[in-house]
Amino acid sequence: MRAAFLSLLALAAPAAAKDAMVSVTWLGHAAFEIVSPAGKRLLIDPYLKGDPATPEAFKDPRRYKPDAILVTHSHFDHSSDALEIATLSGAPVIGVFEWVKTLGLPEKQSWGGNVGGSFTVGDVTVHLVPAIHSSEPAGRPLGFVLSFNDGRSLYHTGDTWIFGDMELINELYHPKILLFNVGGGPYGQDPKTAALAVKKYFKPDAIVPMHFGTFPALSKEEDVREAFKRDKRLQIMRPGETRSF
Ligand SMILES: [Zn+2]
Repeated sequence: MRAAFLSLLALAAPAAAKDAMVSVTWLGHAAFEIVSPAGKRLLIDPYLKGDPATPEAFKDPRRYKPDAILVTHSHFDHSSDALEIATLSGAPVIGVFEWVKTLGLPEKQSWGGNVGGSFTVGDVTVHLVPAIHSSEPAGRPLGFVLSFNDGRSLYHTGDTWIFGDMELINELYHPKILLFNVGGGPYGQDPKTAALAVKKYFKPDAIVPMHFGTFPALSKEEDVREAFKRDKRLQIMRPGETRSF
């Protein structure tokens, strides 16, 4: 009976996947939970317990059952809850090889790679792309492009400044959903530079700004709105909010 039910589900799957959306929940700062059209959960840059912007309900590491945890670089505001969530959930951690190694996770959960590499998580291919930043201790900073089976892709920039190879990222993956660093301050590209990067290098359907407003040193929502002017593709989310694309 159970087998028959499962095979019915399998038959129904392709039709369901055709209309399925990519779900994006902003957890604050650079942290997102992405749910693929086939239901795979990818948690990116989990800095939750210590993030003043993360709503209380989203801080508990036990609430997450990811299929993979993706970390752009080792800085605390991107990586601090990765090990605990990996240990609790058994999910693999995807990041730069040298940093993933420092976590001391079992081999099956240590998915270390480098720029140009990729990993498969169900219906999602995770591509590791460059970012201009630092990542001490251990390794180098990354961005991630998530390619879905429906042909679309999503680009999480990590922490970065604008760089010319964003043109290559667009040529290779033509991302339609951008999760874009606009943090500015002492740490990365400010909203005006981010708006220039989007204009020069991408043709997205949606631009979700991130890494702003968390700390006083970072840019504020009004700076982001001003920089992107009346761009209708700009989607400013609230921490804890989910949107489907
Ligand atoms: Zn950061």
